[in-house]
Amino acid sequence: MTIGGLSAESLAKRFGTPMLAIDLDVFDAALDDFLRAGERHGVRVSYAAKALLVTALARHLQPLPVGIDVVSLGELATCERAGIEASRLTLHGAGKLDDEIAAAFEGRVGRLVVDSVDELERVVALSAGRSLDVLLRINTGIEAHTHEFIRTAGDDSKFGLAPRDEARAFALLASQPSLRLVGVHGHVGSQVYEIEPFAANTQALAAALTRCREAGFHGADTIVTGGGFGVRMHPSAGDETLDVDRTFAAIRAAAPHAKLEVEPGRAVVAEAGTSIYRVMAIKRFAQRTFVVVDGGMADNPRPALYGAYHHIRAVGTSSAADIAVTICGRSCENDELGDALLPADIRAGDLLAVETTGAYTYSMASNYNRFPRPPVVAVTKREAQLWTRRETIEDVLRADV
Ligand SMILES: *Cc1c(COP(=O)(O)O)cnc(C)c1O
Repeated sequence: MTIGGLSAESLAKRFGTPMLAIDLDVFDAALDDFLRAGERHGVRVSYAAKALLVTALARHLQPLPVGIDVVSLGELATCERAGIEASRLTLHGAGKLDDEIAAAFEGRVGRLVVDSVDELERVVALSAGRSLDVLLRINTGIEAHTHEFIRTAGDDSKFGLAPRDEARAFALLASQPSLRLVGVHGHVGSQVYEIEPFAANTQALAAALTRCREAGFHGADTIVTGGGFGVRMHPSAGDETLDVDRTFAAIRAAAPHAKLEVEPGRAVVAEAGTSIYRVMAIKRFAQRTFVVVDGGMADNPRPALYGAYHHIRAVGTSSAADIAVTICGRSCENDELGDALLPADIRAGDLLAVETTGAYTYSMASNYNRFPRPPVVAVTKREAQLWTRRETIEDVLRADV
């Protein structure tokens, strides 16, 4: 098993386990897929930083024609350290702090996406006549999850403006001409494998954009349809992918004249990531065999949090028949990482690869059990670049008084 041309064994030997390896060629190919489709259909692409962001990743994005969505001062500062121009940054968040809104007014981002009327009132209060481009996040009532999407009255999602709040939002914006309403935003969900929800969402946003213009906001010309592009999580799940080009074509058809943007996170980085663990113990009980590894829910909370599936395989080769096992972490929880078929002769000391861990693993990792977070290593053309070193115990204690 190789990542960016280097064997998983050599990476584990050099950087220790657990570790997150990012195959930079896979990352680049996934991003390129979006950028090319964007060029063909006139759709701007902004990377949702919350999927994975460290300074080196932001530096990697710096020369590329891609925006970045941030939701906190931490993500913003990371982009700034990497030299990403403010004009490329969009500030999101369902409950922005005054400090974050102030950062927008200081010109540290290009745009702010307003999520509620309460927030807009604070934006107006903090503006002090300073100008800012804003988008309104609209609760379109379209929500998608994997293969289904539903039209609700919006009651199932906390995000965005309820229809009944639109008039109030327009009045607030009209009262503060230094705020320029440039467009609308809506996000349908995550791991969406069908094109229809994206098209339906864009249609609903196009209607919202028309309402903005009818309310006198003639500069409102942009529709941002969010992220949620589905990623294949199992190697044999052949149909579990979303064709980016066809999706962009459908989005474009739903809003032929608007400036269009998308915000993929997972689909850019998930498949590039592989977590490498060392097996600490094998426990064969009557009914089940457990394989305990040297990481777990602290470095990848996704299986515990929402039952996410990751394909897990042994790194070494073996001719032994496969047995069904459950892979567990070493934290003081029932932190199963998933079930897998592993060679029957798997033993303590062997390496395991947990695949498709580029998105929402490192960015969601915690210091649970006061475990240090693992390193992130990018690999391309047989060369490994340390993106983030392994935390030390000093790092874990750093904020303690
Ligand atoms: C999370 C999020 C995204 C990215 O979602 P993915 O499923 O990672 O593509 C994009 N836009 C908004 C507003 C989000 O909240």
